[in-house]
Amino acid sequence: MARRFPWVLAAVAWSDAPQFTRGMHDGLPLLSYGCAPRDKLATFRQLRAMGLRPNGNDPVAVMYVRHNGSGKTSFASLYLIETAAPVRPMTPAKWTALAKANLARRICAECGHDRLYVVPTSTRQCWTCFEAAETTEAA
Ligand SMILES: [Zn+2]
Repeated sequence: MARRFPWVLAAVAWSDAPQFTRGMHDGLPLLSYGCAPRDKLATFRQLRAMGLRPNGNDPVAVMYVRHNGSGKTSFASLYLIETAAPVRPMTPAKWTALAKANLARRICAECGHDRLYVVPTSTRQCWTCFEAAETTEAA
């Protein structure tokens, strides 16, 4: 049986010399767990933990992890750490925009009240209006 991810020597973005990869995935070099250089590549969450963001750059590699319990394979995008930029700090205007967006999620489309909980996206109604609509439909 042919191996699913054979070792392939390929040119990569994070090194001048060709590196051993596990083939290609979505047009990017595929790496297995433990063979990505930790000082050069990082996932989005790893960048965040370092206070960095991808800075609009696309991922340069994909890493895969096999879960033995479920037999599924997960893929993670890897970004170049050297092209990442610091996370932009929160400004008063950003906090305001965030508060407005969260308020809009709490307002019922029917009665327009702030119900202090996020109304369901399926109906955009608060529970009171939803129940009222249900009883009139049933009657
Ligand atoms: Zn309502």
